[in-house]
Amino acid sequence: MSDKRTELEQLGEFGLIEKLTKGFKQGKDSTLFGIGDDAAVLEKSENEVTLISTDMLVEGVHFNMMYMPLKHLGYKSVVVNLSDIYAMNGIPEQITVSIAVSNRFPLEALEEVYEGIQKACEVYNVDLIGGDTTSSLTGLTISITAVGTAKKEDVVYRSGANDGDLLVVTGDLGAAFMGLQVLEREKEVYKTNPNIQPDLDGFDYLLERQLKPEARKDIIGFLKELEVKPTSMIDISDGLASEIFHICKASKVGCRVYDEKLPIDAKVSTTAIDFNVDPATAALNGGEDYELLFTVAQGDYDKIKGNPHMTVIGHMVDKNSGLQLVDKQGALIDLKAQGWDHFKSS
Ligand code: ADP
Ligand code: MG
Repeated sequence: MSDKRTELEQLGEFGLIEKLTKGFKQGKDSTLFGIGDDAAVLEKSENEVTLISTDMLVEGVHFNMMYMPLKHLGYKSVVVNLSDIYAMNGIPEQITVSIAVSNRFPLEALEEVYEGIQKACEVYNVDLIGGDTTSSLTGLTISITAVGTAKKEDVVYRSGANDGDLLVVTGDLGAAFMGLQVLEREKEVYKTNPNIQPDLDGFDYLLERQLKPEARKDIIGFLKELEVKPTSMIDISDGLASEIFHICKASKVGCRVYDEKLPIDAKVSTTAIDFNVDPATAALNGGEDYELLFTVAQGDYDKIKGNPHMTVIGHMVDKNSGLQLVDKQGALIDLKAQGWDHFKSS
């Protein structure tokens, strides 16, 4: 190690990954795609690929024991990984689960986490095939690797979007973020007076989106039925804006996203306003909505039009035209990707 010291904050998460991995060459014929998409793509047979994705959840960073029920934590840690396999237009088949745990946790607590993991394995039809267990000094960390499969011709990368393609998002946005705001507010109230019961009435949808999200397995089925192969796809774990940036960067295109088209549930809007948050900001930058963002050729518009699970929010443009949000008055605003950049201090 030299005397030079570069703060991680300066690089951000993606800058760091780039720095650390830039010296690696991929020499194996079976590595069809390595770093830089939702999952790596490995050759399985002439017509099939294996998809591999890994994600880590760290206590105090990704979840807080004060409001995250252990069973939900187990369930969510599987779901966030499966979402990355679906984002490649693949089907998950196996997971491995590794845990680092401090002796603050009794067996019963870990059994609850595993109940959630098992439930997710049943719902998504995947096998738990291994993992690793170790002690930790700082709390609980769960790292899951998901393995999936797809036909080679079906795999969708982040990099295939073309000028003119339509930008489509599944489900609705901002609910997981607003759910987190509600939980944080109640945590603060509890800290000042533990006798006050948390007031979570009426926030069921937001809390479920935060605490027990689902991955969009169904969308992969719908796309097949509709005979639509997206030109690019990514899952929205870090916030819509940041994922739009990833697609645009990988595909070398720009985009126009229409503020008024963003799918936002009424409860998200009213809660956002109560919290002094612009609902569009919750949708664009909130994160943790495990939805899929994809692009389709304009010729596929008729096939997805009116589908209640899919909303066209904009279209791709030439790279030189930039990434812009069109507000309700028609003004163009540069799109900003805040997202969850883990090393930024703000
Ligand atoms: P996602 O948000 O879909 O989980 P990430 O943003 O975590 O993906 O990662 C982006 C890409 O960088 C992925 O291909 C991932 O496998 C790779 N990656 C992330 N961290 C590392 C690391 N420490 N070493 C090597 N590759 C990494
Ligand atoms: Mg992803």
